[in-house]
Amino acid sequence: MKISELGEFGFIDAIKEDTLFNPDPVVIGIGDDGAVYKTSAGMEQVAVIDTMVENSHFIIHRTGDWYDVGYKAVASNLSDIAAMGGVPTHIVLSTAIAPDMEVDGLVSLYDGIKDICRSYHVNILGGDTVTSKEGMVITVAAFGEIEEGKAIRRSGARPGDIVAVSHTIGNSSGGLAVLLQNHDGYSQLKRAHRFPVPQVELGRLLVKYNCHSLNDISDGLASESNEIAKASDVRLVLKKEAIPVSDELKAWARESKTNVWKYVFNGGEDYELIFTMEPADFHALQAEYSDVTQIGVVRSGSGDVLLVDGDSESILAPTGWTHF
Ligand code: ADP
Ligand code: MG
Repeated sequence: MKISELGEFGFIDAIKEDTLFNPDPVVIGIGDDGAVYKTSAGMEQVAVIDTMVENSHFIIHRTGDWYDVGYKAVASNLSDIAAMGGVPTHIVLSTAIAPDMEVDGLVSLYDGIKDICRSYHVNILGGDTVTSKEGMVITVAAFGEIEEGKAIRRSGARPGDIVAVSHTIGNSSGGLAVLLQNHDGYSQLKRAHRFPVPQVELGRLLVKYNCHSLNDISDGLASESNEIAKASDVRLVLKKEAIPVSDELKAWARESKTNVWKYVFNGGEDYELIFTMEPADFHALQAEYSDVTQIGVVRSGSGDVLLVDGDSESILAPTGWTHF
């Protein structure tokens, strides 16, 4: 069946069950003009929003299925909340749907949305449903909470801090290349592209261990490290050989005769975290969460990134994924 046969209200009826995964703070959920929820004493609210456009952010059944689109549309938002040190609590979303879209695809899209919301105990509080002449546009806004005064900005990096990242960098854009070439294998890379993991748990530990500056890596390491350098008015000195890269990404770069660093620096959608903090705090963090790697240090400066590669040094330009 196509969405045009089911209609807007039929569609809302079909997806409105199973949307509250932390019902306590919810006063009014889907079904009224607006949703109403309680906030927690002593907490500030974090709001973020992200849009995904068919054939710009994803090519359906090529870079992923509808389930993945729903999952990722939420994941990118939860990642932004993690990158402030917050705990995500609710989402609202807008779906612009082509009239010939199959209802099965929409059910899959919502399965992806609901599965990630369930695993992060995030409520789906409402949304908007409109038609699109061509392709799907999905916009998700997410809300979260952070202890008063504790939100971690990009602008807090200080000379003497270490620079670190979580897990490995570049897998998602490597996975995108593998998917676009319809290549077998490389399941870790494909998975990183289709189902990125918002680093909420690590974001919370970064609050606990007095992290000075924090950014999620949505547009590649070059762009995100420059954002911290600029916002903090410092120089980040990164050591190329220290940057954690997965064996699978190295293998893919070898097989495809592409430069592995292109994925690391200029790829996107890893949704790992890059952060700076005092060395002693970093060591305390590592004792609790081992999968973080120091990749550099913060020096005084005026908003750039120096990349050290063996004996050579160069300024790392902020070239990553950008629209337009
Ligand atoms: P209104 O006309 O008052 O804006 P709607 O008729 O658009 O309300 O929506 C009815 C209810 O369904 C609202 O609670 C709204 O938040 C919810 N809703 C509409 N579209 C979606 C969607 N795509 N996903 C989740 N909830 C939705
Ligand atoms: Mg209304």
